[in-house]
Amino acid sequence: MKVSTGDWFARERVGDVIWRLWEPSVDPFARCNIWFVRGRDRSLLVDTGLGVVSLHDAARDLFEQPTLALATHYHFDHTGSLHEFSERLAHKSGVPYLATPGAIGGALRRSAFPAAVLDMYLTAGYELPEELLDALPEAGYDPAAYEVQSCAPTRVLDDGDVVDLGDRAFEVLHLPGHSPDSIGLYDHESRTLFSGDAVYDGPLLDGSSDSDVDAYVRTMERLRELPVDVVHGGHEPSFGRERLVELCDGYIESVQAR
Ligand SMILES: [Zn+2]
Repeated sequence: MKVSTGDWFARERVGDVIWRLWEPSVDPFARCNIWFVRGRDRSLLVDTGLGVVSLHDAARDLFEQPTLALATHYHFDHTGSLHEFSERLAHKSGVPYLATPGAIGGALRRSAFPAAVLDMYLTAGYELPEELLDALPEAGYDPAAYEVQSCAPTRVLDDGDVVDLGDRAFEVLHLPGHSPDSIGLYDHESRTLFSGDAVYDGPLLDGSSDSDVDAYVRTMERLRELPVDVVHGGHEPSFGRERLVELCDGYIESVQAR
């Protein structure tokens, strides 16, 4: 496999204070959206990618003021660099996974996933290549040795909590279903939602051992009533309220049809 020559993280500015970062060398299946929101008193980092390369070092210029690193849920593609930050926020249900060595799981090779897990990904519509990286972060990097470093959150969140950046604030929405600890961050003022993997514009996953379909339906019923203008998901491009309602209704109908 070739070695990456450019920056491991790509980035784009999507608004006055919002950036999206991502890992171009990672297969879309495991390539999450990393969101950065610059606040007046502190900044917010929503998810941290695979942890193959230090996000803290690579995006150091963004982190000039205190930065709250938040996990929308504990899955490996969202929490790889969480341990690199001194302030770590996650939902209370994610704590046992995040804080226990080996509990996060994940892999960079198709053949390294348990058969049932792989089957669930394929059934949902993902096509996983054998190698989830198309370039190595550095010569000698061993994808087979990949493991997310565990770390305990420094602030444990629950539904209704507020993450305050000084000039803007996000309400924590507990959105279980994809995983027990899935959360969204909702800014009432700008009608912006960071939704993690609770909803994005692509195949949604509810067949993991930690998924809960009934809870997921309730989450979708809640999300479809939210007065949002823009949804920034854990994967795939952002979208507006109309598409949100379509995605929520589509999921609910798919469950009813099972
Ligand atoms: Zn994900």
